[in-house]
Amino acid sequence: MTMTERHIETLLAQIGNRSDKAYGAINTPLYFSTAYKHPGLGESTGYDYTRTANPTRDVLQEAIAVLEYGEQGFATSSGMAAIQLVIEGLLSHGDTVVTLQDLYGGSYRYFHHMEEKGFCNFTYCLTEDEVYAEIEKGPKLVFIETPTNPMMVEFDIAEISKRAHVVGAVVVVDNTFYTPLIQRPLEEGADVVIHSATKYIGGHNDVLGGLVASKGQDINEKLAFQLNTTGATLDPFACWLIVRGLKTLAVRLQQHEKNAKALVEALENHPAIEKVYYSGRGGMVSFAVKDAGIIRDALNSLKIFTFAESLGGVESLITYPETQTHADIPTELRAQYGLTDKVLRISTGIENSDDLVADINQAFNVKKSDYL
Ligand SMILES: *Cc1c(COP(=O)(O)O)cnc(C)c1O
Repeated sequence: MTMTERHIETLLAQIGNRSDKAYGAINTPLYFSTAYKHPGLGESTGYDYTRTANPTRDVLQEAIAVLEYGEQGFATSSGMAAIQLVIEGLLSHGDTVVTLQDLYGGSYRYFHHMEEKGFCNFTYCLTEDEVYAEIEKGPKLVFIETPTNPMMVEFDIAEISKRAHVVGAVVVVDNTFYTPLIQRPLEEGADVVIHSATKYIGGHNDVLGGLVASKGQDINEKLAFQLNTTGATLDPFACWLIVRGLKTLAVRLQQHEKNAKALVEALENHPAIEKVYYSGRGGMVSFAVKDAGIIRDALNSLKIFTFAESLGGVESLITYPETQTHADIPTELRAQYGLTDKVLRISTGIENSDDLVADINQAFNVKKSDYL
């Protein structure tokens, strides 16, 4: 089954169906067994030991490869493990990486850690032009997140990939915010896509996982070797939960996006809000309040939105990057790209739009006269 034959909604709903050769189970069978019987000396069913391969994990890995137009898929124990797999699997001591300043806080912390240990050098760019200038210097790898987090700026994957390939650099895109329904980086020229499957792909705030899709024989082989060697593979039950989550991704994302657009409109007309950051696609919205002093009370007043540190699930969440997701990025660095103590980030759930708008309005309810 290839992407050209079927639409993505169909591929998603059908993941794992027809994978059970024994009984024809519609739902993906969950294989907990860590070891598999060899049919004879020098023979294998394709499964010997579960770190190397597991039938339930294979269903998920094949799915992400197909959905992202990749040649190979990998399921890792978390989104950070997916990033670590790519960085340590593809790079050697002393290599240079070009990346962005406006990045998931955990990615920044890991990159900084690797640099401190003397593994690689990372250059952090604010704009596309800065990325292009750094690519000219011949890095080994370019790692971008688009849209950026939490400022929602989109970067041009096709142009970055074109320029990176001229100097022989590998392009890696963190596609957690958009999912393959909105953006397929490999199709635009990138070499590797990573996901925190904990977010939209799992979609229910109940499973931690990471996914990677790659193309190019050399890259595929290096990643497969690294994952089997280091062992950050995803356990079968988590794979099963993520397969179940993926099946409804298309319908969930429709409602996430509908809710995001309703909230953007409400926030843009709200007297306490200074600025709204939305790329026009997907379910993530950031905004800056005029007065950071109202944030504590507003967070306490929310009745539907939960003040919590994740995204992409069916429940609407609100995050304060200053003290949560981005606390590990130095304040001066954050201020350079507008991430101040006035910025909040919303992950819209799949609730009713009117209820979400009403909740934000009542919580950020300040008298208009205070600000006019
Ligand atoms: C959450 C997140 C990660 C890290 O994923 P985990 O599953 O939490 O390890 C990486 N990138 C982005 C954009 C994220 O939102």
